[in-house]
Amino acid sequence: MMENPNPNPNPNQNQNQARRRLVCRSVVLVPCPFQGHVSPMLELGSVLHSKGFSITIAHCEEINPPNPSNHPDFAFLPFRLSGDDHQDIFSGGVEALFTSLNARSESPLKECLAHHLKMMPDQKEGRISCIVVYDALMYTGEAAATQLKLPSLILRTSDASALLAYGAMARLQAAGYSDNFPDSKLRDPVPQLHPLRFKDLPTSKHQTLESLVRMVSLVCIKRTSSAIIWNTLDWLEQPAMAKLQQQDQIPFFSVGPLFKLAVPRCPTNLMEEDAGCISWLDKQNPQSVLYISFGSLDFIDERELAEMATGLANSGQPFLWAIRPGSVLGSQWIEPLPPGFVEEIGERGRIVKWAPQREVLAHSAIGGFWSHCGWNSTLESISEGVPLMCSPRFGDQKVSARYISYVWKVGLELETEVMDRKEIERVIRRLMVDKEGKEIRERAAALKEKVELSIKAGGSSYNALNALTEFILSL
Ligand code: UDP
Repeated sequence: MMENPNPNPNPNQNQNQARRRLVCRSVVLVPCPFQGHVSPMLELGSVLHSKGFSITIAHCEEINPPNPSNHPDFAFLPFRLSGDDHQDIFSGGVEALFTSLNARSESPLKECLAHHLKMMPDQKEGRISCIVVYDALMYTGEAAATQLKLPSLILRTSDASALLAYGAMARLQAAGYSDNFPDSKLRDPVPQLHPLRFKDLPTSKHQTLESLVRMVSLVCIKRTSSAIIWNTLDWLEQPAMAKLQQQDQIPFFSVGPLFKLAVPRCPTNLMEEDAGCISWLDKQNPQSVLYISFGSLDFIDERELAEMATGLANSGQPFLWAIRPGSVLGSQWIEPLPPGFVEEIGERGRIVKWAPQREVLAHSAIGGFWSHCGWNSTLESISEGVPLMCSPRFGDQKVSARYISYVWKVGLELETEVMDRKEIERVIRRLMVDKEGKEIRERAAALKEKVELSIKAGGSSYNALNALTEFILSL
């Protein structure tokens, strides 16, 4: 008689046991409350949920709270920041914002996590009942986890290449680099940081170098965390990944782009999307429209708005421009646009307050993305094969812009340091009309294909997600 290949009398039992082992594991996610950070964290929640984990989002109530009704599969642990007026968190610079946000989250987060643990069914001595995944900027997540004897993992929401550059800032400062670095040397290569030039370093005119270096020492370290999850692709940033891996010596899981792995689409937008622009795009020719957005945080001044508008008008290209209310300094929305601009543009252009960006980038009418090169926008553009026109403003955006234009060669950078209508018009034509733009578009299409392969069975991000699942189960 042939031996039964399945020694288990109930063929579903093994599967059920594995599943039971999975569902009794709970993951608490601690996002940083800004759009570019909330989205990848919610998407990570969605992919981990699809792997059988129960997901709880621990978030502060006061700043950009997620909408639980958009995520019926998740539980939510809202906490109130300690202190009276949360608005004063925003009154200092970037460093003050994050140190204050973490300090004021520390005890409320710990309390609500402790309460969450008490309420969990099936508590057993010596058994880890939950793990904490925190955004690198919400490093208080690690402190809370450690105090409660829970393992923690970091989610890094920006590119590895930028992190490597941040990590080099203290060394560069010690070697003489300062806030008064001469303009004449901005295009010189940075030692040991190829392919970055000094102008690509992740600095900001709103933050001193000293303050940046202090912040790096808080957010770029692994602390006691067991692993780092990256919203990037291994092969896309291989050299940076290898260096960071050598430095950190804990497992890395590159599971990006998370928005592509989170299927069905996870609604993560904190602002109301203007869906009307999609029907406008439907009427445009294929690859004819330039989409413009500088993300969820950046501001421009009136002069920059006027230069951008005039450059766009003079280029003659159709465009879709997302301008957040309040993002033009000193005005409610787009009041300072040059007189007659809207009439002159007519149906050739459309301005919205907030676009459904991912849908926009996936639309066949889009031929280019003029972006500030935030990491989410960069990944979204690359994933849809849309070539970029780069206007990095500060921080990691400057590093991403260098990679887009010089390493992956899927975009063009504006050459002038300040917004200039002539340069804008010239670069729009290079990207949207000239032969050069056609070649860049072909490279972007090839990169899109590589990304698509990476998230399919056997691809690097697909495998990394499975490895991450196993890793969490092994903790
Ligand atoms: N975004 C959007 N509609 C807009 C502008 C931005 O949906 O009109 C989304 C975009 O898809 C991205 C995020 O906001 O996921 C911005 O993140 P990014 O890292 O690019 O920039 P940040 O806002 O953090 O500077």
